Amino acid sequence: MSRPKKITIAGAGLAGSLLAVLLGKRGYEVTVLERRSDMRGKEVDAGRSINLALSSRGIHALKMAGLMEEVQQLLIPMRGRMLHFENGDCELMPYGQQEHEVIYSVSRRDLNCLMMTAAEKAEPVNVRFNQKCEAVDFEKQILMIRDEVTGIVVEEGFELLIGADGAGSRIRRSLIPAVNGSSESDILDHDYKELEIPAGAGGEFLVEKEALHVWPRGTYMLIALPNQDGSFTVTLFMPKTGETSFESLSSPEKVREFFASHFPDTLELIPSLEKDFFDHPQGMLGTVRCSPWNYKDVALILGDASHAIVPFHGQGMNAGFEDCSELIRLHDQHDGDWSKVLPEFDAIRRPNAHAIAEMALENYITMRESVADPLFQLKKEIGFELEKRFPNRFVPRYSMVMFHRLPYSDAFKRGEIQQNILAELAAGNESIKDINFELAETLVKQKLTIVDLDSPI
Ligand code: FAD
Repeated sequence: MSRPKKITIAGAGLAGSLLAVLLGKRGYEVTVLERRSDMRGKEVDAGRSINLALSSRGIHALKMAGLMEEVQQLLIPMRGRMLHFENGDCELMPYGQQEHEVIYSVSRRDLNCLMMTAAEKAEPVNVRFNQKCEAVDFEKQILMIRDEVTGIVVEEGFELLIGADGAGSRIRRSLIPAVNGSSESDILDHDYKELEIPAGAGGEFLVEKEALHVWPRGTYMLIALPNQDGSFTVTLFMPKTGETSFESLSSPEKVREFFASHFPDTLELIPSLEKDFFDHPQGMLGTVRCSPWNYKDVALILGDASHAIVPFHGQGMNAGFEDCSELIRLHDQHDGDWSKVLPEFDAIRRPNAHAIAEMALENYITMRESVADPLFQLKKEIGFELEKRFPNRFVPRYSMVMFHRLPYSDAFKRGEIQQNILAELAAGNESIKDINFELAETLVKQKLTIVDLDSPI
């Protein structure tokens, strides 16, 4: 049985830092190599407070690491989507039916810093900054590391290597040819740009605090998530090229005109619109699918390194955190025998990563287009009613992904069946009062088995 004592993690991002805490608590001597310098204690650029939606899968992993009490201080609940229509009307569409069915806005930086500090507090964990992993010789178990300050490249041996080095992973780039595997990156033809709604003069939130704001506009959309200082991080998602696109917004005048026509209520809220628009980078989005994720019992990639996804289901970080909790679950189950843990992790997690990647792509259409469609709203209402009547069989797909931990691939499969049921029930109807619930009962009982919502795998 192989039992390494030392583990090397590439990347002290969200997944790498959390995994360092979890492995450190199990007594491993963990070295984390991070390309960037230490972000703690450094000033953040104004308007660059980037936030993420945290939900049940991520929370479960944070609890496993004993960090949830501290993380709680950083969270703002978001109870639903606040839809901003073109005519200026707003409507809150709740995410769930129960009080606890909310997702949480959290600062990426604050969360990452908290986990890095927790990792360093775990005695056998050492985080080394400005260390870029360049390439790996898996057979010899040697890692090429470049010091980003001196430019010097050194070779270091490793016992077990975990690549948590994000979407552009160097570890993946070495791994896939070494195992004759396959890897593809599907770049979306839409990009994003971050803007900011600052806090009011007294630090107050200028729009509803406990919501994820969405301005759905068909082929593009604007969203905003709250920050603890009263500001909101705003993100514009739109095509790269074409009539209405980043390319077409080529001057400050065009940007103002575009916002005045399509998001008029934001003009007063985003005072430095043109400056932010041209100062902030235009980010790329995409999906990474690769196979396999492990090299025998000596290396593994996880998080965005093995399955980067588009951000429209708010699940990239949550899926990466779930990788960490699942890896630890398998580790404990196999009593630290990595020769069993790594292949099993790959076999279990890969289909789930593919499922959430698909659901995340679909959710872009939902967010920018369908949420404003009356048929979508009717189906959502029917879905909630079916959940009330048959709670152990019908659970809306959004809830299965965000509020529960059943495998993503099961949520995907059940979601398809549920969509067909909803389409059949909603066909030709305009109101929940018109729905034939006898037929609904027959369909639900015929097509959906009883679900165990909180049993991952
Ligand atoms: P990363 O967070 O990218 O961390 C990788 C780390 O490795 C970094 O610290 C990097 O500096 C380091 N690194 C990179 N290369 C090397 C190297 N060669 N050597 C050493 N170190 C290296 N997810 C959610 O769950 N909810 C959301 O609401 C959400 N919103 C998002 C919005 C946007 C616009 C985007 C782009 C993503 C969003 N995500 C969201 C996804 C989330 O950001 C990622 O899934 C998550 O950051 C992945 O974590 P990771 O640790 O795998 O990778």
